[in-house]
Amino acid sequence: MFEKVVIVGIGLLGGSLARDIKRHSLAASIVGVSRSPKTAANALELGVVDSVEPLTSALDGADLVVIATPMQAMPTVLRDAAPHLSSNAILTDVGSVKGDLYARLKAEFPQLMAQFVLAHPIAGGESSGVLASRESLFVDKNVIVTPTSEVAPSRVEKVHQLWQAVGAHTLEMSLAQHDAIFARTSHLPHVVAFALVNYLNAQPEREQLFDMAAAGFYDFTRIASSDAEMWRDICVTNTAEIVDALDGFIEQVTDIKQTINSLEQSEILDYFNAAKIARDAGLDRKKR
Ligand code: NAP
Repeated sequence: MFEKVVIVGIGLLGGSLARDIKRHSLAASIVGVSRSPKTAANALELGVVDSVEPLTSALDGADLVVIATPMQAMPTVLRDAAPHLSSNAILTDVGSVKGDLYARLKAEFPQLMAQFVLAHPIAGGESSGVLASRESLFVDKNVIVTPTSEVAPSRVEKVHQLWQAVGAHTLEMSLAQHDAIFARTSHLPHVVAFALVNYLNAQPEREQLFDMAAAGFYDFTRIASSDAEMWRDICVTNTAEIVDALDGFIEQVTDIKQTINSLEQSEILDYFNAAKIARDAGLDRKKR
């Protein structure tokens, strides 16, 4: 499918994609670009990539470049990469926010817009780094492709084919729709999980609280163990949507607080039942 694939950022997402590109023989060679020597050594030892090279030499002859760093590092990678990229190469990313990267591309790298296919795999987890990368991470997961008017449909199609070849389902939506949906379904829950853990941690009896907390608390807050840098970057690149989602959520919390305080038992019951029905129906639709 490709001659030379370059993965910039061999972490959970980049490393997992590299593993599957190798496993399914989707490229003649796969080269990693790493910030830290430790990640480079681990990636080579685990056989995640064929070689690790500096960005400039890695890009020589590359026909697919995947940027898999935190969001705010992407423009820096593009600045360093731009002079060395062939105009035939397809550029893509795995970033969690799309509108901000598109705006940065338009403002700073207009020459790259015809080759950049923005994409976001809805797969991952709270662990990070190349040691957490694994085969088949994307099997049966959605990958959202957000094609822009500047990029050729044949390049968009190639990115669909890549993700489908590693077992994912691909679908397209606009940048704005993507950022609005994932602010509510992913970014908001992460912020709420961070806040809940910090709320407990701010109590004088914090140790007792964490010791006594049962599986429900640790299930709910699993995602608060996610990488802080990645989540800082998501919050500062999708700020308006996340703040809007937080406003809506705070309204819900205020409503249920008032209902509980009023001791209106039927209202409390209705509120919890409505949530259960909505969640169960959502899960049923996903299983279909
Ligand atoms: P990760 O495991 O932490 O990997 C990030 C990689 O980027 C690491 O290899 C790191 O290098 C490199 N990196 C970090 N900062 C950099 C910088 N300033 N310049 C150059 N390289 C840098 O993160 P991840 O979970 O794979 O996430 C990567 C991207 O995927 C993010 O944009 C994230 O929003 C998106 N995403 C994540 C998930 C998820 O659940 N984790 C899901 C969907 C999308 P070192 O190893 O050398 O530090």
